Amino acid sequence: MTIFPKVLPDEFILGYWGRIHLLNTFPTSEDTINALIEQFNPPAGGSRRFEALACSANLNDREFAQNHSLIPSLLAMTSNKAGMLHSLVNTPAVIRRNWRLLQKPAAYFCPACAEFQQSQWGFSYWMRRHQLLGVDWCVEHGTSLRSCDESAFILKLPSQIGDSELVAEPDVNEISKPILKRYSQIMVALLRGRLRINLSDAGNIVRPLAMAKGLSTRQRPTSQYLSDYAVDVLPISWLRKLFPKLEMKQANEKYTPLDNTVLAVSARTHAYALAMALLYESSEVALTALYQQAGRRNPVNLN
Ligand SMILES: [Zn+2]
Repeated sequence: MTIFPKVLPDEFILGYWGRIHLLNTFPTSEDTINALIEQFNPPAGGSRRFEALACSANLNDREFAQNHSLIPSLLAMTSNKAGMLHSLVNTPAVIRRNWRLLQKPAAYFCPACAEFQQSQWGFSYWMRRHQLLGVDWCVEHGTSLRSCDESAFILKLPSQIGDSELVAEPDVNEISKPILKRYSQIMVALLRGRLRINLSDAGNIVRPLAMAKGLSTRQRPTSQYLSDYAVDVLPISWLRKLFPKLEMKQANEKYTPLDNTVLAVSARTHAYALAMALLYESSEVALTALYQQAGRRNPVNLN
């Protein structure tokens, strides 16, 4: 008989698979997932692994994707079906492509979260919010996250990771810490958000602040870009996690993956999150501005 543990708040989908594997006696994690597929027999054609895990968690596919995968952060800011609830537009094709998507090349955990979980339940688990791109900070505890090989999602719990397994993370200077903290808070809020934000609403709340700093915007081109400002105030070791080619740009040269947040209407969610973290002094103020802007366009869906 297979044991199905209750899925926990914000538990990352791969970690949940791992916990089922650890609690049962199948030789490999592949054998575990195959046993789940055999037991629940999800229809062919979809993502049978994802659906078998959703059945184990006793959740429907959309709810499972919404609360346990990184899909909401991937699509938080979009021109497609903006204003709608994520849970209404997490289509089977999106789920099939992205359910086990990682945004970082390692498994991340917060030692304080793991310790709390251990004292609360006698075990720890992998949290989804710690796996977001560029998020090196636990927003609950204000501690730096630790990381180890991604195979740990399936084979271990965070509290079982020994010091020798940890990957060394580069130090960041004191000046950049508040920005990175705001970035983490914004990314986590977008992950939890139920509403898709229109890209132009996100652009509208960062453009006036960029303009006030003398940075180049769609309305007022100048020679200094938001990307120049980012390079000035943040360590390149962190920036390259989000934008691997940013360090190849010259000073006063446009770098569209980041600068398009204020120059055009086509950037990824993490670029807007970084623009907000760089330009606002407080993540709360930035998020309030964002949701107010989105609410003006789609007041019905904010309820
Ligand atoms: Zn924590």
